[in-house]
Amino acid sequence: MKIVTVIGARPQFIKAAVVSRKLREREGVQEIIVHTGQHFDANMSDVFFDELDIPQPNYHLGIGGGTHGQNTGRMIEAIEGVLLQEKPEWLLVYSDTDSTLAGALAAVKLHIPVAHVEAGLRSFNRAMPEEINRVLTDHAAELLFAPTETAVRNLANEGIKSEKVHNVGDVMYDAALYYGDKAEQSSKILKQLQLTSKGFVLATLHRQENVDDRTRLASILQGLASSAKPIVMPLHPRTRKRLQEFGLSLPASVKVIDPVGYLDMVMLEKHAALIATDSGGVQKESSFHKVPCITLRDETEWVELVESGANRLMGADAQKISTSLAEIGNANNFVKLLYGQGDAGAKIVSEMQ
Ligand code: UDP
Repeated sequence: MKIVTVIGARPQFIKAAVVSRKLREREGVQEIIVHTGQHFDANMSDVFFDELDIPQPNYHLGIGGGTHGQNTGRMIEAIEGVLLQEKPEWLLVYSDTDSTLAGALAAVKLHIPVAHVEAGLRSFNRAMPEEINRVLTDHAAELLFAPTETAVRNLANEGIKSEKVHNVGDVMYDAALYYGDKAEQSSKILKQLQLTSKGFVLATLHRQENVDDRTRLASILQGLASSAKPIVMPLHPRTRKRLQEFGLSLPASVKVIDPVGYLDMVMLEKHAALIATDSGGVQKESSFHKVPCITLRDETEWVELVESGANRLMGADAQKISTSLAEIGNANNFVKLLYGQGDAGAKIVSEMQ
């Protein structure tokens, strides 16, 4: 069985590492990896292939840096070329980026079935490019791997046939379990940054609705400025660009570092006193490592974290952010096994026939 995997953005490398490892364990499976080039910096791409033992891509499309329409259009054309040449049994895509949608559209029009990992997530905010990508990919897919019961319900509500949908749990939980100890053994980031365990806040910020909006971005930074503990922020290239364009500077409480590899990131997450983020992946990882989280968004796809009290939505409200930073240490509720048993990768591979 031949599978073409299309990936292009940082979180997709981490998710694909889990499934690709399981695919390699199965006899008679050949995985062809296509890297669209959406994320191309060494610290947004290469480091994950090296650290997480992902095979080097068979195709590197080098498409990035344009608008959503330019990127998606160019990717569809290039992926179609790969699919015509490789003639796979499956096209495998992850989550909700332009690479995901481009892969799904190219395949479905060639009648190649699409498998979508992280299906059924919804923010119900159609202003997010990710929401459009998710909805369209789910409706093009033949096999939908949902991480939660909420995601299964969302798909049912949109009329997607239940036999196509499998609740396998979340591949990111598999990744956290598999790489968690490795991180403790090999990462030197705490020492390098002279951080003490639980002595700092970890913050990440990159969503378009936050960083492309000067008012929201300034308000979030104002909230973070009040932190008594130092804040470590691995700065996403998009955010770095916008800060420059808007003439905004980061408050003194924030220690900016370049984006880090996954093992260093896991280490920072595990030892943070609090995590403040607008990332989908980091929200979940905070709960895997039992670290309280505040989310710098108005809504989230990972609603069970908010319902359980492990995560609180702050929007871009400076006052709310500031208050929650002052309350670090208050108890949080961590509900075990919200995201499966850590065997999502194995379940996905066994469903692909
Ligand atoms: N991540 C990382 N290094 C960083 C920041 C994030 O390895 O400097 C990891 C993080 O642990 C998570 C994933 O990247 O596994 C999340 O990616 P991102 O926040 O870019 O995207 P999202 O999850 O919001 O789609």
